[in-house]
Amino acid sequence: MSTVAEIFQTMEYGPAPESDKEAVAWLGKHERVFGHYIGGAWTEPGQLFDVVNPSTSRAIARVTEGTKRDVDAAVSAAAGALPAWKGLTPHARARHLYALARGVQKHSRLLAVLEAMDNGKSIRETRDIDIPLVARHFHHHAGWAQLLDSEFVGYEAIGVVGQIIPWNFPLLMLSWKIAPALAAGNTIILKPAEFTPLSALCFAEIADAAGIPPGVINIVTGHGETGAAIVEHPDVDKIAFTGSTEVGRIIRRATAGSGKKLSLELGGKSPFIVYEDADLDSVVEGVVDAIWFNQGQVCCAGSRLLVQEGVAERLLAKLRARMERLRVGSPLDKAVDMGAIVAPVQLERIRGLVRQGVDEGATMWQPSWACPTEGYFYPPTLFTDVQPSSTIAQVEIFGPVLVTMTFRTPEESVALANNTPYGLAASVWTENINLALDIAPKIKAGVVWVNSTNLFDAASGFGGYRESGFGREGGREGMWEYLRRAVAGGRRATDDGRRTTGDHVMRGNAARRSSSRPSPAASRQPPVAHPPIDRTPKLFIGGKQTRPDQGYTRRIYGPGGELVGESPEGNRKDIRNAVEAAHAAAKSWSRSTGHNRGQILYYIAENLSARGEEFAGRIAAMTGCGSRQAAREVDASISRLFTYGAWADKYDGAVHSVPIRGVAIAMNEPIGVIGVVCANEYPLLGMISLVGPALATGNTTIVIPSEPHPLAATDFYSVLETSDVPSGVVNIVTGAKDGLAKVLAEHDDVEAVWYFGEREGVKMVELASASNMKRTWATWHERDWLDPEQGEGREFLRAATQVKNVWVPYGE
Ligand code: ADP
Repeated sequence: MSTVAEIFQTMEYGPAPESDKEAVAWLGKHERVFGHYIGGAWTEPGQLFDVVNPSTSRAIARVTEGTKRDVDAAVSAAAGALPAWKGLTPHARARHLYALARGVQKHSRLLAVLEAMDNGKSIRETRDIDIPLVARHFHHHAGWAQLLDSEFVGYEAIGVVGQIIPWNFPLLMLSWKIAPALAAGNTIILKPAEFTPLSALCFAEIADAAGIPPGVINIVTGHGETGAAIVEHPDVDKIAFTGSTEVGRIIRRATAGSGKKLSLELGGKSPFIVYEDADLDSVVEGVVDAIWFNQGQVCCAGSRLLVQEGVAERLLAKLRARMERLRVGSPLDKAVDMGAIVAPVQLERIRGLVRQGVDEGATMWQPSWACPTEGYFYPPTLFTDVQPSSTIAQVEIFGPVLVTMTFRTPEESVALANNTPYGLAASVWTENINLALDIAPKIKAGVVWVNSTNLFDAASGFGGYRESGFGREGGREGMWEYLRRAVAGGRRATDDGRRTTGDHVMRGNAARRSSSRPSPAASRQPPVAHPPIDRTPKLFIGGKQTRPDQGYTRRIYGPGGELVGESPEGNRKDIRNAVEAAHAAAKSWSRSTGHNRGQILYYIAENLSARGEEFAGRIAAMTGCGSRQAAREVDASISRLFTYGAWADKYDGAVHSVPIRGVAIAMNEPIGVIGVVCANEYPLLGMISLVGPALATGNTTIVIPSEPHPLAATDFYSVLETSDVPSGVVNIVTGAKDGLAKVLAEHDDVEAVWYFGEREGVKMVELASASNMKRTWATWHERDWLDPEQGEGREFLRAATQVKNVWVPYGE
């Protein structure tokens, strides 16, 4: 027996097992065999597969492989439940969400134990992190349900949503998906990951007991094929997916052109940056949380440790000492730091990548102790001497493996941090607040933690940049993912406070009728359209009017077949040049002040106004819309530029109320280079309605103007030239719309594509965008660009930005 003195010396823990009695009893109640939970009832078990406890490698239950028919049944249950659920008052839905939060709390220990048994993660984490966050998520979203009508005016539930989640945080991911969907009034079919379905099934029972109406939440178990059946189901209106980038790409392609709304939360290779003035003891604890939390099976794991050269050796020595004392073992042991890896296939993947790291010349270090031999365990692992381009520095390992690289200057740290196709999260360690807040905006990631890591809360959005996916989960940002503009048959307020009903066309006509005050320009005759004399039509790239690469032009005719002018036929090469120009301009434009960008937008408006009659004449000649209508379009364009001039310094971020001593600052950042493919109608206003918000928020653009009526855009070059717009901020390439849009959508240096056109084009853009997971805003629905409610405002600003949440804890 050891004495107290010895225990103080060794700091050894004895075993502290958590009882699995309740969880075993719950499994026993179901005879360890489960069907799906559809329409408020359990289905008969079908073809079964094993659910294995990773720490013992023994099966603990069997669940049903979801077939297409099961998915059909679940979708029709969800569709059946939709009208009543959506029709509830916000307060009634808030009560339901509150009941779910309470249900989770009441069964928190059962869920924590079940999760540990199913996933292999430690009870310490499931009990103290996963399950409390699940309850918090439902509580927080009970609030959004309550406030829905006042905070999301003009928006409504999307409908039936399909949700596919991974195995690393089974119940937490469920809550991230289900809570906002329900709060917004959607009904759900959710598929848990094949390795970890049990907590979702237990949750179904809790939801049932909490009185969630049948069909509102449906849980279908199964593998990837079951997920694919959900993705492909025609009656599913939105897909929310968390998982690998590889499957995310498949889903992006499968939903292309379907009209389904999509949010993807994918992989990462997040940097953990340590500057030489950081508190190294805190850093060591941070690293433990960053990469050994959940055995490193965390999409935002701080898996790349970037250390400033001067402190690297000291930090690594401290880290090795700490690793030596980490405890790996039974997830149900309360004194264990790390549990088991979820499945043999993941374990093999980790081993394979570690071998590859060693083969590629990096130095591998592991603690001296051995892992348990029963179950799927892997020790914490540290790599040094890692090349930034090596496999282990680039590929997501999804295990307890940390790779270390060093840097000299802050600038170098940013370059190294951004040297990844991903952009999920980052962690910045320095005692210098100026440095931290200088670095945070420079890192391409959806979340930045300052002197902290892996902080999550329902009030703060989470989600990635670049190939880490798009969409946010949590907070107000996350609610938008489950809402859409109330359109067909919906009731919305117009800007003068009237309520209108009806579809786009009706509203369009109503807007035209209601705009009764003739503009000054309208009373004058527009100039007659003369064919231009000896004028070589050009493109606008990098601030210069340039000849198209292949030297073709097309003739532009008016509605009566008369020649109105010529426009150049841009091609792939022109688009590439334009992308290059847009990139060159992006850095300084994105960093210019909102005030400065606003000034430029007003200036464009001023210069356009000076030539209003000429533009109206051109529009009338091209479209045959009549001079009054054309003048109205010019006036609306000027007003729209004012709108975005106004927004440029007013599209504020937020400071989220997260439950820490500190703040989470939500910053609206530009997306980068946006390809803007304009609608055919409203050749001037349609273009300005898109370029305006893109510019106001700091993006640079490649614009493909209206294909049948491109001359309003080519005339616009000289307005841009005289308005102090920096070169490369707006580039305009005329020509065959869909062909050019495809080049933009396929281009890896374009970060987003907006496309207003036909359904086929939407599909093409969404398909092609999967290559680099660019954000798309592609729609074939008609829009009345004259109506400010449809043609401008926050919807556009949201599309032009992505939110970065910077967590800054405070206190000594
Ligand atoms: P991970 O690498 O985290 O295991 P995956 O992307 O393989 O992530 O899996 C995440 C989820 O996606 C799981 O629920 C899985 O069953 C599901 N899934 C896998 N393949 C597909 C697919 N082709 N379509 C839809 N869902 C899929």
